[in-house]
Amino acid sequence: MSHVFHRNLHQDYPTAVQGDGPYIVDREGRRYLDASGGAAVSCLGHSDEAVAQAIKDQVSRLAYAHTSFFTSEPMEQLADFLIERAPAGLDSVYFVSGGSEAVEAALKLARQYFVEIGQPQRKHLIARRQSYHGNTLGALATGGNAWRRQQFEPLLINVSHVSPCYAYRDQQPDETPEAMGVRLAAELEAEILRLGGENVMAFVAEPVVGATLGAVTAVPGYFTRIREVCDRYGVLLILDEVMCGMGRTGSLFAAEQEGVTADLITIAKGLGAGYQPIGATLVSQRIRDAIANGSGFFQHGHTYIGHATACAAALAVQQAIESRDLLTRVNVLGEGLQARLGERFANHPHIGDIRGRGLFQGLELVADRDSKRPFDPALKLHARLKKAAMAEGLMCYPMGGTLDGRQGDHILLAPPFMLEGSHLDEITDRLGRAIDTTL
Ligand code: PLP
Repeated sequence: MSHVFHRNLHQDYPTAVQGDGPYIVDREGRRYLDASGGAAVSCLGHSDEAVAQAIKDQVSRLAYAHTSFFTSEPMEQLADFLIERAPAGLDSVYFVSGGSEAVEAALKLARQYFVEIGQPQRKHLIARRQSYHGNTLGALATGGNAWRRQQFEPLLINVSHVSPCYAYRDQQPDETPEAMGVRLAAELEAEILRLGGENVMAFVAEPVVGATLGAVTAVPGYFTRIREVCDRYGVLLILDEVMCGMGRTGSLFAAEQEGVTADLITIAKGLGAGYQPIGATLVSQRIRDAIANGSGFFQHGHTYIGHATACAAALAVQQAIESRDLLTRVNVLGEGLQARLGERFANHPHIGDIRGRGLFQGLELVADRDSKRPFDPALKLHARLKKAAMAEGLMCYPMGGTLDGRQGDHILLAPPFMLEGSHLDEITDRLGRAIDTTL
């Protein structure tokens, strides 16, 4: 018996022992093509020599220095690198160890900002239904995914939720995409007014929704209108790019393609690409200035924030993406993947929608294409699909539909940026076989 308290105590896991480009090899020598980057993490695959060398160099020089005593070269360099490339207005970076922590930091920075500028009544947060922002209690409370929240409900802070921007299911028959964006921005405004514009602290959303909906992009203009509504009431906009950021959708920050900037942006997975655990919250100048001109102290320190080796790894990852021109590759490969998924699944009786941007693609499964009726969640299709894909030597990221029928099961694909075209064929073939044996 394993003494590890595994994620799922009813499941057996193969033992991963070796990385080989986009493959993970287990102890029995089986190879798994990583078509989901784990959970949209491993954007450089699993055996990048340049990143491994950067980690070795940093560890042998200085592995770690507690940030209450020191700053460090890799932390300063990584912050410079990110801010030079970040959307306008963001000017400093708070480093943490992962995505949930980045969201927690964003929530507390938003709160502290308003306390420091004399608006302590701003404590309400608005997020979207069917969203996921992490599993720590504040981040979990922010998310609107009922299944993840329900058993922890009494412990969660009160957040209100508005509709996600989910055209496949929620665009009305007589509505243009633009009109849908206007309607959803009006819904946010109505919620702000219900709470009292002077009481709302922030609105939180993922530019491209990953885990909960499966690579759902917003309709054109949605985020511009959301930004306008936030600005009208002095509400901060927090964009959660933990999954969709760092090149995954073809630009370093997904917000760039929406033409908006944010007051706070959270990043994590692709930042360190799995080579080290790291996340970060990018902070706008006005929030930083308010705290710098006030208490000067953000009461949030964790032991491992700004970990020197993690920062060195992330810097090497980001430099590799840039020097190897991998964002161009994400766009080209993304089109190739979408085309192959279309050829293979567009007429499949149980694939209702194929969507996404860059190397962030999703397929939504439905029991019936015409009515878009999801499969019964009790079938646990996502778990069966994951098992079938692993048996085919493929890692993909299926998620369950909701009990209320608001969304179907879906499969998220988020492969490494350094694939070859032949890997795209391999992904589509193996996925096709896994779907056929499951449905
Ligand atoms: N935010 C988003 C959008 C995510 O997709 C995730 C994880 O999937 C998180 C936050 C939490 O990140 P982590 O698992 O690194 O804590």
